[in-house]
Amino acid sequence: MNIDWKNLGFGYIKTDYRYVSEFKDGKWDEGKLTTDERVIINESACVLQYAQTCFEGLKAYRTESGKVVCFRPDLNAQRMIESCKRLEMPVFPEERFIDAVKQLVKKNIDYVPPYGSGAALYLRPYEFGSDPVLGVKPATEYQFRIFASPVGPYFKRGAKAITLRVPDFDRAAPLGTGHVKAGLNYAMSMHAIVDAHNQGYNENMYLDSATRTKVEETGGANIIFVTKDNKVVTPKSNTILPSITRRSLMYVAKHYLGLEAEEREIRIEEIGNFKECALCGTAAILSPVGKVVDHGKETLFPSGMDKPGEITQKLYDTLTGIQMGRIEAPEGWILEIA
Ligand SMILES: *Cc1c(COP(=O)(O)O)cnc(C)c1O
Repeated sequence: MNIDWKNLGFGYIKTDYRYVSEFKDGKWDEGKLTTDERVIINESACVLQYAQTCFEGLKAYRTESGKVVCFRPDLNAQRMIESCKRLEMPVFPEERFIDAVKQLVKKNIDYVPPYGSGAALYLRPYEFGSDPVLGVKPATEYQFRIFASPVGPYFKRGAKAITLRVPDFDRAAPLGTGHVKAGLNYAMSMHAIVDAHNQGYNENMYLDSATRTKVEETGGANIIFVTKDNKVVTPKSNTILPSITRRSLMYVAKHYLGLEAEEREIRIEEIGNFKECALCGTAAILSPVGKVVDHGKETLFPSGMDKPGEITQKLYDTLTGIQMGRIEAPEGWILEIA
């Protein structure tokens, strides 16, 4: 394998196999692994015209003892079922999702980065409506697929601090679907992201679209804050994507670090009271934020400027310790694949 594991970024690298199952005449076929990375569909496929598609993201890790594991894939399967329901797509059963993940990782095992490299094998399950529609209605045929790509960190650690700005744009959620992991939400956020980059920011800190007063999340990651007395807080909202990383970090804060952890509404005016801020997600893991700018009003998190704050670092070490097998995991969190 000719891959420089230590310097991998977050980008697509073609691997040998991908999993495909097709839904037709009201049922899923038995599914298969294929070496063909192309998808061939009709020009009027529902996914192309009306964006009937959703996805998931999870990682396979090489542990300290050389095993290959996945982190809580059952939660990805369950969240994808919720996304499919909201988009009127047939659900791919949880047991089959897990089985497909296992088959795929085993077949691409040489692409799972070595322990200690900081890289992982990213898995991208997705489903889309594949047969032609012209009137607005759900497709009748679908494909469920998973491909794999080795990835490094989403935000390079040790690089310049992450800066966010509060945009004039609402976060996608066009039909109140902000809690659905769907390409359409990302499509509607592209302009806000490019605009943030053009202004020198890494990402947007979106506010709730109803009142524009409460913190939601960034384009592809949830947000956690740490209070001056070491309490971990994260926004309560049903229009943000329920991050599995965030749920896990809140558990780790309470049960491993003995900290208070609370989900509550967070007003944008109060973020200056926090001492740490970080982005969390499968891709971002836990990346410290150094600065948030809300229309000229700057909030600095000095702890996140050149290295993570104390609590952010503890959360990061414990979560990645659990994922890499250095720290004992709660029951059911780790799926051993090889
Ligand atoms: C995937 C995603 C996240 C992170 O969720 P994880 O389950 O932790 O990977 C956060 N926000 C959005 C919008 C997402 O799509």
